Amino acid sequence: MTSTTVPTCYWCGEVATSEDHVPPKSFFPQGKNLNLFKVPSCANHNEMFSTLDERFRFYIQGSAMSEDAFQMFADKTIRGLQKEAAQKFTASLAQYSKWIMVDGERRRIFSVEPEKQNQFFEKLVRGAYYLAFREPACGQIVTASPQFYSGLDYKTLAENLGPLLNDSSVMTEYACPNPDIFRFRFGREGTPPKQAAAIVMLFYGSVEILGLVTPSPTEQ
Ligand SMILES: [Zn+2]
Repeated sequence: MTSTTVPTCYWCGEVATSEDHVPPKSFFPQGKNLNLFKVPSCANHNEMFSTLDERFRFYIQGSAMSEDAFQMFADKTIRGLQKEAAQKFTASLAQYSKWIMVDGERRRIFSVEPEKQNQFFEKLVRGAYYLAFREPACGQIVTASPQFYSGLDYKTLAENLGPLLNDSSVMTEYACPNPDIFRFRFGREGTPPKQAAAIVMLFYGSVEILGLVTPSPTEQ
């Protein structure tokens, strides 16, 4: 990048006026919240869907299996319990989650409104995509997670992407400063307009969010 380059928005490519944290700062515990990733953002896309940050932090930490996630979840949840809003939230956690057995392990999975989940996951995927490729993701974005059962079926997406995800010549691990909190792999195949990209994010070493970027039907 030269000094004359004007930073452009990670989402739409318009002139950027600020920076946005991807993933949100609140996902990182104290002591592990330095050198977080920032992406340039226009006025429209700065803080886009940030009202969902806290909610998904709880969901993601609530289904994670790591000491950091548990600590943050316990600290903030218990402290927040005094507040009425937090009580409603805790009740909704119970209402929208269920325990399932996966390979003999008990796991909590969440069902949230698909629209909200897609918005929040899309923002994460767009952020990671920009960090990886230094340009906005164009086309259609689909996301899924084995820990969330609304939205797109994770198994179907993972199976379709199998060859791409398992190809180490395509997928690269991004250098993340706190990989135990957040890490991701990325890869891109083909040339525009028939290019496909995959982003595989891992929160707290256990919660996976998969993103696929494909050309829009109109561009194909
Ligand atoms: Zn924008």
